[in-house]
Amino acid sequence: HLPLALLISLLVMAAVYVAAGTRMSLAHPLSHALAREEFAIFCQPIVNCHSGRCVGIETLLRWNSPRFGPVPPDVFIPLAEQHALIVPLTRYLMAQVAENFALFPQDPAFYISVNVDSRHFHQQQILQDVEQVWLAKQPSATLMIELTERSRLTDIDGNQIHRLKALGVLLAIDDFGTGHNSLSYLKGLNPDVLKIDQSFTAAIGTDAVNATVTDMIITLAQRLKLKLVVEGVETAEQIAYLRERQVEAVQGYYYARPLPIQDFPAWLAAFHGD
Ligand code: C2E
Ligand code: CA
Ligand code: CA
Ligand code: CA
Repeated sequence: HLPLALLISLLVMAAVYVAAGTRMSLAHPLSHALAREEFAIFCQPIVNCHSGRCVGIETLLRWNSPRFGPVPPDVFIPLAEQHALIVPLTRYLMAQVAENFALFPQDPAFYISVNVDSRHFHQQQILQDVEQVWLAKQPSATLMIELTERSRLTDIDGNQIHRLKALGVLLAIDDFGTGHNSLSYLKGLNPDVLKIDQSFTAAIGTDAVNATVTDMIITLAQRLKLKLVVEGVETAEQIAYLRERQVEAVQGYYYARPLPIQDFPAWLAAFHGD
């Protein structure tokens, strides 16, 4: 156990060091980037793998920096979190999507998913943004909020979750299976959806131990009567495996890569063969 713990803390220290280095060169431009609207909103379709219908999308940010070129979210999202920019950035995304509700099916069964950081729950900002930025634009589709399991889910107060649900918002646990939270938070947060992280999907047909974990998460979700979205589905073999286990909603390159939201209607028409 000791060498592993040591290795992990060394890795964490290295990551912090690298993040601090990156921060110095990128943090300042990031706040200007928001003001200059250098962020684009992409979406990735979520598909029912039995019916072949698109049931929702996940929204994803892209930063096209004139100075650094395209910066991946794995780099700028952690920076935004460190520099108190994640809430304004998410609010920007929500406003942009809300301006473009007409691009998406006018159907309450269709969900539009937004990644929300646990910091957004401070001082009920998320409730304000859901009401004033999102619901004020009269969406017909349903909002889903993804909270990553790697954040401090236990810090989120149940009252706000309760109020979000009363507004018709769905709650998903993102990257399920990768966090260090004990599963006891599931009772308090009462999520509607578990999103299985793509590392477990990649294990199908390649890694027996992780594939067993995948099976257990599928069973867990089914027993708890939670909806499941399996992420990172890339191959026909994975689709067959998931279909056999009665998994419905999947997201991944097999069906679609993330695309600019403006391109979604054309993608949907082609996908459904309309
Ligand atoms: P995530 O929430 O787990 O998003 C899924 C990521 O997996 C996306 O990467 C997507 O492009 C990628 N992906 C989807 N299907 C496949 C597949 O079949 N194979 C592989 N290899 N990858 C696939 P992306 O867009 O680069 O986003 C990376 C992460 O950045 C996201 O992971 C999310 O944690 C974060 N992120 C992106 N946009 C936002 C945002 O608006 N707010 C917050 N808080 N985080 C965001
Ligand atoms: Ca996500
Ligand atoms: Ca995820
Ligand atoms: Ca992920």
